[in-house]
Amino acid sequence: MRNTKPSNPSNYQGAVYNIAIQSPLRRCFDYLPPVEHPTLLANGVRVLVSFGRRQVIGIVVGSASQSDLPESKLKAILSAIDEKPLLPKTMMKVLHWAAEYYQHPLGDVYSTALPSRLRTLQKTDKRNLGWQLVKTNDTTEGDLFGKAYRQRALFDIIQTSGPVTASQMADAGFNSATLKGLKDRGLVESVEQPPTPLQPFSALTAQSQHELSLNFQQQAAVDLIRASNNTYQCFVLDGVTGSGKTEVYMRVMEDMLCAGKQCLVLIPEIGLTPQTIDRFRKRFTCPTVALHSGLNDSERLAAWQQAKSGAAGIILGTRSAIFTPMLNPGIIILDEEHDSSFKQQEGFRYSARDLSVMRGREEKISVILGSATPSLESLANCHSKKFQHIALTQRAGEAVPANIQLVDFAEQSLKHGFTDYTLAAINQQLKNGGQVLIFINRRGFAPVVNCASCGWSAECEACNAQFTVHSKPAGLRCHHCGAAQRIPTSCPHCQSRDLTTAGIGTQQVESFLQQQFASTPVIRIDRDSTRRKNSLDEKLNLIKQGDPCLLIGTQMIAKGHHFPGISLVVILDADSGLFSADFRGLEHMAQTIVQVAGRAGREKRRGEVIIQSRHSSHEALIKLSSQPYNEYADYLLETRKATEMPPYSYLAILRAESPDFNNALRFLSTAASQTQRLIRVNSLKVEALGPLPAPMEKRAGRYRLQLLLKTKTRSQLHKLLSQLVPNLELIKLDSKSRWSLDVDPQDLI
Ligand code: ADP
Ligand code: ZN
Ligand code: ZN
Repeated sequence: MRNTKPSNPSNYQGAVYNIAIQSPLRRCFDYLPPVEHPTLLANGVRVLVSFGRRQVIGIVVGSASQSDLPESKLKAILSAIDEKPLLPKTMMKVLHWAAEYYQHPLGDVYSTALPSRLRTLQKTDKRNLGWQLVKTNDTTEGDLFGKAYRQRALFDIIQTSGPVTASQMADAGFNSATLKGLKDRGLVESVEQPPTPLQPFSALTAQSQHELSLNFQQQAAVDLIRASNNTYQCFVLDGVTGSGKTEVYMRVMEDMLCAGKQCLVLIPEIGLTPQTIDRFRKRFTCPTVALHSGLNDSERLAAWQQAKSGAAGIILGTRSAIFTPMLNPGIIILDEEHDSSFKQQEGFRYSARDLSVMRGREEKISVILGSATPSLESLANCHSKKFQHIALTQRAGEAVPANIQLVDFAEQSLKHGFTDYTLAAINQQLKNGGQVLIFINRRGFAPVVNCASCGWSAECEACNAQFTVHSKPAGLRCHHCGAAQRIPTSCPHCQSRDLTTAGIGTQQVESFLQQQFASTPVIRIDRDSTRRKNSLDEKLNLIKQGDPCLLIGTQMIAKGHHFPGISLVVILDADSGLFSADFRGLEHMAQTIVQVAGRAGREKRRGEVIIQSRHSSHEALIKLSSQPYNEYADYLLETRKATEMPPYSYLAILRAESPDFNNALRFLSTAASQTQRLIRVNSLKVEALGPLPAPMEKRAGRYRLQLLLKTKTRSQLHKLLSQLVPNLELIKLDSKSRWSLDVDPQDLI
């Protein structure tokens, strides 16, 4: 952000600060030094500035000896908020890198990284205001209070014990009128109570107890990670479900904690926080904080400050926790690193996985990416020796790998999604006292309702998508925009009453199994059945009791939960992944199947897995069911290489959305011709495809178009983007339309 341009005499010559301010504009703003601040402001200090008609908090990110603007246009910083930078230098470097890499406004990047309490102007919380005696008045004349005995008493308390907060006064039985009396007499004034400073946690001294002795592979993993002591290295801990990855993390964390260093652990889903925290708390005595979207602003700030001050030894969180500063960072661990929730899909579209690697490098600490089904990106990085691959191929303890069967249903009619073979297998397992998990990645009753006479089907007007039929409560629901309607009793097109549903959803499976296995509890876990607070925990606890039951679940149960009693897993329909429009479709299908299958037989019992498909001879399914995930992943990597898709190429998508198709098209057409010009002028090896309608062309009433950029050399793409994006901001766009750039998109949908 330094100005190196030749000086223009009409522009201001003198010191200015470059301030990052949250705004859609991809630039920083110049401000003159504050009038009443003689000392220099360091980078990273928060300042109060007027911005347009508002006062906002900005961050000093640089300074220069002149500005591009004339003095008349420059305002002075109103005041400095911090004495010292709010974030360590390493964190600032990561944020600046991310703003550049994702071509996202720096002010907005800072705002994503900071707890909201630190970036918005707060009305001081009155209950925490302290009241002290006005200096000049600390001796009192005998008759000052007259008959105001309560005021006299409060005055005496403050005089002897120093500042007292309003809530302390209330606790001591004083009401607000008494305080007001003292204020009116000009005897007391408010002070902000300085928070008590946090101390770094003291290193774990005694080794914590562990009952388990590591198996050979776990020990080798721990040794390898230990050997990277105090340098950056990225490890991919590729361990089948139940191989004891968490045990490996905990041994490494123990080393760190004993050395007084902090551990940052990222997990994909808020639902996994309690069980992970529980495991850490049982094992370690140090303070542990959890950062997740369920915290309110002050809880979030408190957890953040404990991390920053070094008071917390373990910091656990979802995606955005990657921005938590640490005083003594020791290690970053991402569990289930393949999970797409680590990529933010809106606004600042960062990947917490990629940022964790950048951060590890800056902080000179190691990063562990753990998964039973690592992403193809991470595996490719292992092949090219950027990351180090560590395999855990055996289940820890006594658990044995599950046995997988493919069951074809092309030639038979299904009973609400089930083949007779599968139903018989379920029956058998229940008889043997086992629990059965049925995986189906579609909530509701059925994904389609249509007319048997004319073929009409119920579609959401705002989206290019069919309505899903729900039975509890009954209605049509759009899973893309949330629109809801009544289920029609006759076809709006031909008035026929012959309406039928097609396809299967969790609710249908639930009612079918309740009839079929009347004496067995059926537990459904999907977004609809777990909306009520604690309902997920209640259901999980029921399953953990271990009695025979049928568990129906969506994606929600594929992640990380332990179900030791499950002896059979049924994947009801593997085909949607086989023929997905998305280039990651096969990868995601395999990850889901392997993760779900991993829920079977986690303890002594050997697990069974049934995969139902209409295409059981599809190469991808055969490979997946007959070989370890790793070999399957290598097969997928070959196809990605042949089709020049990531990780063998790099993508960015420029998207435009508008209620008016033509507005979105106009924007992207201008963007496309600018792109072509930049590619030509700079002889860049970047392909630009589009503008094209997105696979889902309309969603929530907005048309969606995109321009796909693809290259084999990342630096070429970034050269293009850094020149293109400033121009995009100048293209006129009406207020209802918007555009966004997604670097390394998760999908092209
Ligand atoms: P992952 O995270 O790879 O799925 P976990 O670390 O959760 O695996 O371990 C799975 C189960 O195996 C847990 O119940 C854990 O306590 C147990 N376990 C892990 N390591 C060992 C070991 N070395 N010996 C015996 N049991 C182990
Ligand atoms: Zn009809
Ligand atoms: Zn819709």
